[in-house]
Amino acid sequence: MEVKKIIKEYEKELIEIRRKLHSSPELGYEEYETSDFIYNYLKDLGFDEVNKICKTGVVGLIKGKKEGKTLMLRADIDALPVFEETDIEYKSKIEGKMHACGHDAHAAMLLIAAKVLVKYRDDINGNIKFLFQPNEESSAALDIIEAKVLENPHVDVASAIHIWSQLDSGKIGISNGAVMAALEEFVITIHGKGGHTGSPHVSIDPIIASANIITSVQQIQTRELDPREATVIMFGKVEAGTACNIIPEKATLEGTIRFLYKDEDAGREKLKELFDRIVKGVCIASNTKYEIEYKNGNPAVINDSSMVTLARESAKKTVSDENNVVEYSYIAGEDFAEFSKVVPSVFYFIGSKNEKKNTHYPHHHPKFNIDEDVLKYGVEMHVRMALDYLSK
Ligand SMILES: [Zn+2]
Ligand SMILES: [Zn+2]
Repeated sequence: MEVKKIIKEYEKELIEIRRKLHSSPELGYEEYETSDFIYNYLKDLGFDEVNKICKTGVVGLIKGKKEGKTLMLRADIDALPVFEETDIEYKSKIEGKMHACGHDAHAAMLLIAAKVLVKYRDDINGNIKFLFQPNEESSAALDIIEAKVLENPHVDVASAIHIWSQLDSGKIGISNGAVMAALEEFVITIHGKGGHTGSPHVSIDPIIASANIITSVQQIQTRELDPREATVIMFGKVEAGTACNIIPEKATLEGTIRFLYKDEDAGREKLKELFDRIVKGVCIASNTKYEIEYKNGNPAVINDSSMVTLARESAKKTVSDENNVVEYSYIAGEDFAEFSKVVPSVFYFIGSKNEKKNTHYPHHHPKFNIDEDVLKYGVEMHVRMALDYLSK
């Protein structure tokens, strides 16, 4: 059987599944319908085992004819709290929720890969574990690992794909080493003293302190750290006040620090130290008080070189032109990092950027969409990786 030919036969279904999931997005750990759909789909394929994990996750297993190693293929399945602003016919039916990161495509690609791979059961030595992971956007991978997804059977290697709107359609981006950034989330609360905006001299304004913090911490990137190592400090949520003429009691600032460093642990500690010092300095200057809470986010995703070689070989067979297999990494967070820390792994990108099809908007944007013509590449990559690794 020819892999490309079989996948071609399922391409219509692949796109239908992606659209079905796209129109009914569910947030992290609430993916009940999505999870039931996946569970039943794998059961109907005649999987050797299908189980739920961590409430809304699904793990399926194909056992090959002979004993051997176990490869885990992982897709995330959660959506985001975003109001969709596309005009596609299969747009989100649920207001305020949207598959704005492409996890609908990840789930669809892995389901069709499962459908193809069951046909090859007799050619496989070992096992393929399929993980449909909930709540990627809030870093659920550690919960899943604690729930023993990497055991019974023990996972030897793992692989995952991200559809990527910042990489041209038709390209597959694969690199060695760190490919997605480490992440630290923070919440800063600034305490002032409320009052009338006409009498600032008898109040303490937490808003001006916040504004100064937002700008001052940016100098960490340009004045305090080695510019050859990437750092991005961003504020995604700023809250203060109730009316235009009231000085509020407090302000809260939430954001992320993303970084790709050679020494991640030392870098994380240094970043926090610098961040604390600047926030403290601004608060002293503005006579405000503050608290900082850090939420230790993902480590960086680290690709294993032998898994990268395996993925590159599969990619060359998947896309017709070898030049379409490119080096790629990105400074966003991804909880697949937790798997890559404990199992030799590869995480790679399938480009879906096509301005003619309006699929160039960034991930998490209300107009985000996917060039569905590249979904077949994702299926083929999963299938080839599994066959190449387990037929050795
Ligand atoms: Zn995302
Ligand atoms: Zn994502």
